[in-house]
Amino acid sequence: MVPGLATWLSMLLAGAGASLDAVLPAEAAPAPMHRWERLGGADFLVVPAPAVTPDTPVVTYRVLVERRYAASADDFAGVVDEVLADAGGWAAAGYAFVPVEGDADVTIVLAAPKTTDRLCAPLRTGGAFSCGRGGRAVINANRFLHGAATYRKQLPAYRTYVINHEVGHLLGFEHRRCPYRGAQAPVMLQQTKSLSGCRRNATPRADELAVLAARPPRYLRERVAEVSTPPVTAAVADAATVRSREGRPPLRSAP
Ligand SMILES: [Zn+2]
Repeated sequence: MVPGLATWLSMLLAGAGASLDAVLPAEAAPAPMHRWERLGGADFLVVPAPAVTPDTPVVTYRVLVERRYAASADDFAGVVDEVLADAGGWAAAGYAFVPVEGDADVTIVLAAPKTTDRLCAPLRTGGAFSCGRGGRAVINANRFLHGAATYRKQLPAYRTYVINHEVGHLLGFEHRRCPYRGAQAPVMLQQTKSLSGCRRNATPRADELAVLAARPPRYLRERVAEVSTPPVTAAVADAATVRSREGRPPLRSAP
């Protein structure tokens, strides 16, 4: 409640030792700083990240959320953090994924279907799919919010899949086929479209992790060279410790 003029006057005239600062209305408080970035004709919130400098091989990533979904920015970033830090995800190849706000190896974007199409062109996402190209994993917000028929009602599993799949492209992976009927699907199979006889699977298979460990993309090779002894197990352990953003509760119970 803003004090009325009479209240102000009585406080000032009373000279009760209260400084003017103490009675100023709350509008004097600074607004939180938000960084915005323009991409594909839309505005994106740059999700804040803590300053972390681990001494293990890292993949840095940042999270952008289109303005219309800004209220869900923490939820989205929380899921991204969890998926990338998961010891059963790409981190199992021996890398810590570290969130940053500035220059990053990969950018994870939550975008409206039409914006997704613009950011993914010349790939054809048709308002329905996501993509990973040009350093960006662009997640179609309809998919993030509603999943896909192939995952039925398992929304958390689908979210894990789509993030791992699109980030997989940024780590140098092309699409893979279902190896045989009943097999665990490679995460690089286009599981949003069809499981092609495979069993759905949201995380990289052991053979996919082995490929990443043996053939990391260039920016990862350079990063490894900077680190004197790349301890694979330590990197995985680190992933668990660097993943949480300040003040964000874990989101394991995401709907
Ligand atoms: Zn793909």
